[in-house]
Amino acid sequence: MRRYARRVTDRELDEDMNPISHEHADVSGGRVRAATFGAMDGLVTNISLVAGVGGAGASAHTIVLSGVAGLIAGAFSMALGEFTSVSTQNEQLDAEVAVERNEIEKNPRGELDELIDMLTDMGMTESTATTAANEIHADPDGAVNVHIIHELGVAPRTSRPRGWPRSPRSSCSRSAASCRSSPTCSASRR
Ligand SMILES: [Zn+2]
Repeated sequence: MRRYARRVTDRELDEDMNPISHEHADVSGGRVRAATFGAMDGLVTNISLVAGVGGAGASAHTIVLSGVAGLIAGAFSMALGEFTSVSTQNEQLDAEVAVERNEIEKNPRGELDELIDMLTDMGMTESTATTAANEIHADPDGAVNVHIIHELGVAPRTSRPRGWPRSPRSSCSRSAASCRSSPTCSASRR
């Protein structure tokens, strides 16, 4: 008894001395993907546009104008495309959450068994998984959240894709890449 109490105290001491302080980068396909996609799209389309107009023998003025028009059109199309695709993805997520919620209401026993299976697959013993699943299912909202996380791999409460914060990111990196590839940028650097 005394030894157990001592061990707990040591663990508390360890936690004080070593608080969890690490952070993780966003690897869920959001920021890095949008920024990389925007930059690559800006580079490829603007270089092609400027090269095509230049190759056709247009004047320097027309080439610069094409570069600027391509940059603006690309930034707007990227922002709107990102917003629309993320909105569609969120609507689909909401529909899946509704399906899961309905299923938990209609067939609570089956869904409880499904969660027990998922938890035992993750390495829990049957009895621990049963206790955990029962505790999770005591709160229907929490149960829907846990089922969605395990079945779809997204956390509807915390990691919903957001349209607008990402849209400027992809359109900004697109514009930056377009600008670097465009004669207007080298003109402004001079
Ligand atoms: Zn389920």
